[in-house]
Amino acid sequence: MAFTIAIDGPAAAGKGTIGRALAAHYGFAHLDTGLLYRATGRRMMSGLDAIEAAQSLQPEDLKADDLRTSDVSQAASHVAAIPEVRQALLDFQRAFARRAGGAVLDGRDIGTVICPEADVKLFVTASDAERARRRHKEMVESGHDVTPDAVMEDLRQRDERDSARAAAPLRPAEDAHRLDTSEMSIDEAIARAIALVDAARG
Ligand code: C5P
Repeated sequence: MAFTIAIDGPAAAGKGTIGRALAAHYGFAHLDTGLLYRATGRRMMSGLDAIEAAQSLQPEDLKADDLRTSDVSQAASHVAAIPEVRQALLDFQRAFARRAGGAVLDGRDIGTVICPEADVKLFVTASDAERARRRHKEMVESGHDVTPDAVMEDLRQRDERDSARAAAPLRPAEDAHRLDTSEMSIDEAIARAIALVDAARG
């Protein structure tokens, strides 16, 4: 049975953590759609045209070990504003969403553009300070040398660009459940997300 959970929200709000936990809980497959834009941005940084980079993206491109750097984050948000790039990545995401056995996708336009018919939609947010704190901790733990201010600046710039663009801007679907995780522990946020999905599954 296909069952699709769409998770959207600004950078570093907890979408990935919640998405992975939901996928594990229900035995669904999980797709971090930001990786598609990161891998496209990474290929553009090495000289390819952004549209060609998206059109010829290969599974191994998603495994590059430097996709989480600030430079790649910024490149991702630049290529993500190009309609042809988004178009090139659309079919793969839609097919993933419809796979038998259930799917969880997280990104910016999953509930609005990729899967408007998703069974459950979550819009995950957290305060700027909390998102920057979490992302800085995560980056330092994985060996990146960044300051908290630089992380905050990266998140602000991307959120602004992602919200202001004409193509599939970051915004909640009308029927999305809002989940503000600023004051929640990871376990609380996951429990709340599971409760919302359980309610939708009936
Ligand atoms: O989620 P993540 O921070 O890895 O995404 C990197 C960038 O990719 C975002 O800032 C955004 O510009 C873009 N993106 C998007 N649509 C998605 C997922 C990510 O535009 N569904």
